[in-house]
Amino acid sequence: MNMSESMATVEQAFDIDKSASFDYVIKRQRRKTMALHVLDDASVEVRAPKWVAKKEIVKFVEQRIEWVVKQRRSRIKKLAQVPQFANGHRHYYLGERYPLAISMANRASVNFLDDHFLIKVRDPDNAEQIQRALESWYRSQAKDYFEQRLFACFETFPDWFQDKYIMPEITVRKMRRRWGSCSSKGEVTLNLMLMKMPIACADYVITHELCHFEAFHHGAEFYQLLSAVMPDWKERELLIEELS
Ligand SMILES: [Zn+2]
Repeated sequence: MNMSESMATVEQAFDIDKSASFDYVIKRQRRKTMALHVLDDASVEVRAPKWVAKKEIVKFVEQRIEWVVKQRRSRIKKLAQVPQFANGHRHYYLGERYPLAISMANRASVNFLDDHFLIKVRDPDNAEQIQRALESWYRSQAKDYFEQRLFACFETFPDWFQDKYIMPEITVRKMRRRWGSCSSKGEVTLNLMLMKMPIACADYVITHELCHFEAFHHGAEFYQLLSAVMPDWKERELLIEELS
């Protein structure tokens, strides 16, 4: 396709209840048929041959309004879920969302100031720099936070457990599929993303992994111990599922 040959004009279409009106761009191209596209940013584009009359194009779109509205809704929903690394966008920390305030500086830094994140980066328009700064901040907080939670969780176990096992070393990693894991040697790995969740979630994952010290698989013995130590573990598990 030769881009320089495509001419764009903007039109507007309405669905029946007018609640989902959208603009669409008509791109005149060297092609034989018309095609309707809803792009990732939820914008709508009609690609049409140069010779097709405007009213034909409008008719073409109007016949497909329902489809467009449905597509746009799912794109918009997806867009809303993707965290944006720009001024004012809100990011989670221990279950609460706080806006980012971005400013320029030679050295990247992140400060959490009770009700917002103050982030300094070289280029405030560079989402990648902001993302990297924020992630390294989560990492810098993670070790202390998880150790503190581990200490609190370990204390909820019965005396025999505390006598039998020592508190494990915690490794922090960004993981796609798991919130935590426990090796047969008793090393516990926690997902960095738990920093974004309420404390109840990190406590659940830590307690779950500690139970594996006594019962390596998810058998009856495992759940017996887990339920004794953390009676509301099911609610916490649901909360993690909801938030992830
Ligand atoms: Zn497990």
